[in-house]
Amino acid sequence: MERLLSYRGVILKALESLRADKVIGNSLQAMVELALPPEEGMTDSETALLLEMVLAADIHVVSGGSGDIVARAYATEWNRCDRCWRYTRDVGANTAHPDLCPRCIEVLHILGG
Ligand SMILES: [Zn+2]
Repeated sequence: MERLLSYRGVILKALESLRADKVIGNSLQAMVELALPPEEGMTDSETALLLEMVLAADIHVVSGGSGDIVARAYATEWNRCDRCWRYTRDVGANTAHPDLCPRCIEVLHILGG
């Protein structure tokens, strides 16, 4: 967990400079590439947890870098879900709900939509 917190700190700095440059309005619009030293890997569930901790659109982990922890952030090309405001690659895939992500479509179905 301490490891994730230090990754979070590095990522937040990258997001902050993107925001300062007005490339993004908020972190949900950002894609993050996180380069880790060769000996440090991330499981899928750790990556998912880290994504929740920084609230970005997505995190792509690259292991085997120079030895430093480096985060690079850039604006996503994904579309925003009208319901949860997250940017996901699947918004628009469902023609019945072109403005929603699959997770929200599932929720709506459960709610009887
Ligand atoms: Zn959604």
